[in-house]
Parts: sequence; C-alpha cells; structure tokens
Amino acid sequence: MSKFLNKKYENLEVYTPGEQPQDMQYIKLNTNESPYPPSPGVIKAINRPEIENLRLYPDPECNVIKEKLAKLYDVKKENVYLSNGSDDILNFAFIAFTSGETTAIFPEITYGFYQVFADLNSAPYKKIPLKEDFSINYKDYCNAEGMVVIANPNAPTGISLSIDEITEILETNRDNIVLIDEAYVDFGGESCIPLIKKYDNLLVVQTFSKSRSMAGARLGFAIANEDIIKDLERIKYSTNPYNINRLTMKAAEAAIDENDYYMQKCSEIVSTREKTAFELKTLGFTVLPSLSNFLFVKSNEIDGETFYKELKSRGILIRHFTTETIKDFNRVTIGTKEQMEVFIKEVKEILKERGK
Ligand code: PMP
Repeated sequence: MSKFLNKKYENLEVYTPGEQPQDMQYIKLNTNESPYPPSPGVIKAINRPEIENLRLYPDPECNVIKEKLAKLYDVKKENVYLSNGSDDILNFAFIAFTSGETTAIFPEITYGFYQVFADLNSAPYKKIPLKEDFSINYKDYCNAEGMVVIANPNAPTGISLSIDEITEILETNRDNIVLIDEAYVDFGGESCIPLIKKYDNLLVVQTFSKSRSMAGARLGFAIANEDIIKDLERIKYSTNPYNINRLTMKAAEAAIDENDYYMQKCSEIVSTREKTAFELKTLGFTVLPSLSNFLFVKSNEIDGETFYKELKSRGILIRHFTTETIKDFNRVTIGTKEQMEVFIKEVKEILKERGK
C-alpha cells in the first residue's frame, strides 16, 4: 500500500477470485465456467476483418446486442443494459442505489463480492443468516429497509427461491431496489425477468460467463424498468462509455443467435449434475439441492480443506472457502460427463486410502 492511498480504502477486504492456473494442467472445477466451448458462430465471428476493426472504438450504445437480448427475453431494448462482466453491474448498482446511505441487505452466505462492493462504496450493509438447511428465508427480505441483493440460485449453495417468493419480496419492497443476480439461472432455475413489466423496483442481472461459455470475453447484462437502466447508463457514461470491446460484442451477437446450442449444453450440465450428486450422496457426502452448474458438498469423512488439497494433488481443482460456517464444504463446478467421471473416480480413491 502506498502512502498516497485514500484512507477509506486502507482496510478494504478485497474479493479473492478462484485460482486461474495458466498452464491448464488441471481439471478445472473451481470457478463455475462452462466446460464447453462457445458455439460455432462465435468462433466464426472473431475473424480477421473484426480484428482489423479493433482500431475503431466499439458502439457505446451496444445497439445490436441490446436488440437481440430484448427479443430473446421479450422486453424492450430500453430495458437492457450491458457491462464488462456482471460484476460491473453489481458495483454500479451499489454506486447508484446505495450512495453511502441506503443499507444493502443480502444473505450471510452468498457471493462474496456483495460485501466488497458495499465496502468499496461505503454502503452500510446487513447480512442475514441462512436457514439451517442453507436456504434463504424469503420472509427475511420482505419489507426490508434498503436495497435487497439476492443471488438466485444462491452461490455457493446452489439453492433457489421460487418466483412466488421473489414476487412477495418485490411486492413488499415497492420503495426499495430488489437486485436478483441470476448468474446461474439457466441451469434449471426460473428467471424473474418477466416480472420487470410489473415491478419497477426489480433489477435482474445475468452473465455470459456461465451458461454461455464466455467468461473470458467479460459480458454481463441487466434487465429492468427503463428508468433503472438509465441510472446504470448514467454511471457507465461517467466511468467508461466503451465498456464492451468490439470482439466481445461480435461474439455475443453470434451467441444470442445460437441460443439453442447453449440451452442444449445447459441441459447436459444439469443431467451431469444430477448424476454427480447421486454418486456423491452414495459415497456418504452431504450434497445441497442445486439448480446451478455447481454442487456444494461436504464429506462426512474428510474436512473441506484436506479434500480440496487431496483433489488438487490429483490434478482436480475445486473451490474451498475459509468462512467458518462453510469451511467443511467445497464447491464443485460441473464439468463434462467425462471430467466428472474422473472426479468421482478420484474421490473414491481418496476415500479408499482412508480405509472408507
Ligand atoms: N454473480 C455471481 C453469483 C457469481 O458467482 C459471479 C461469478 N463469479 C458473478 C456474479 C460475476 O460473473 P461475471 O462478472 O463473470 O459476469
């Protein structure tokens, strides 16, 4: 830290991203990426002429992708906002809607960035414990006194709230922003995007990083009432108007055109998830009911950190968190069927070595 750093950032606890080894020698089940490549049209879209066009700035209004997303989700173009990864939207929401005064309310166990963005933007926050079964009690968020932020499905648990429960939260928070982070909704959950037509306090956030195999391209989007979108645009035009690069735009346009490819891959991931969950339960693991592309699991034989290290030494990366209440759990991203077979085989070996 230099002596020049603004004092208010001295104690900022930053977000720790999962390991990103650059040599690719691991089966990588640690950061919820898709194990499948982008669709064929995306690969064609990143071509020589587009690379030559990199000398030009991109369209700051992102008109083409907005139109395509609006059509896909049956909303208007004015209901869509695009950003460099959905993390950017979350940050912008904290900038725009908490302004250091409004409290942000989110679960105690959830995506770690919510707290970082609250701290970064000097927003007061309230963390609400999960129920004993690690699910969210939606009633805790009804009549909230501030901005509600919920990942649905939640991360790292994978557990979802129903649309009826979210509707109740929206209904009882007419004067508060309700941000629903749907990063993992395409893996069996139900999106609340249609509710934006009724609720002007709803901000839905999604990403191309998981179900659309484009974590490396950095593209997130928000869908909300026109005025909320204008608020996000206001922050964007005050920071970085060219926040989506040209290649990502081209890739995303092609990806939306080939939506069926991605939905097919999502259903493969869902069936691999169910198979993996069944096998882990048979091996004596606690497995939370997930509607995402990962499983949150706990061995009844090995502590979380040892399990993570054992798998790493066998070439498989999973995610371990040090937070006290979940330190015996690990989050396992669902890979291809073949990758998960290797994973299960290694888990069996680890258990066998311990005489289980
Ligand atoms: N929300 C949740 C719940 C996530 O797990 C992630 C991925 N780490 C994100 C948002 C951010 O994803 P991205 O910035 O890649 O769109």
